[in-house]
Amino acid sequence: MTAACLFCRLVEREVPATVVHETERVLAFHDITPRAPRHLLVIPKPHFTTVGEMALADPLLAGEVLAVAHEVAKEQGIDGSGYRLVFNTGADGGQTVFHVHCHVLGGRRMTWPPG
Ligand code: 5GP
Ligand code: ZN
Repeated sequence: MTAACLFCRLVEREVPATVVHETERVLAFHDITPRAPRHLLVIPKPHFTTVGEMALADPLLAGEVLAVAHEVAKEQGIDGSGYRLVFNTGADGGQTVFHVHCHVLGGRRMTWPPG
């Protein structure tokens, strides 16, 4: 837990969120600024800054985040039509919140390559 971290505060329910899925170690909720008709964020409850840091320190947890992302896609009804998982990492990756999070985006056709 990092007191100043927005998503740690969200895990502690000090910051409100529309939670759609929760396990012992993972939380999924709606992105506050949706970039697609379906836009959820999946985070580990323990604090890691990036996906790489999490994957090295706790590969099982990284797998749990991916499994919850898939469960959320199913619950949101986009597993059939398709969806995109994104881990923005660092400045060039466009990361703005430094608690690792997996974007689950769907409900429309995604463009490729990204901007
Ligand atoms: P990043 O740019 O780091 O990959 O993504 C951070 C995401 O967190 C953005 O899509 C942004 O809309 C979302 N976000 C920022 N603050 C909050 C918040 O307080 N609540 C929720 N639910 N999402 C947030
Ligand atoms: Zn955090």
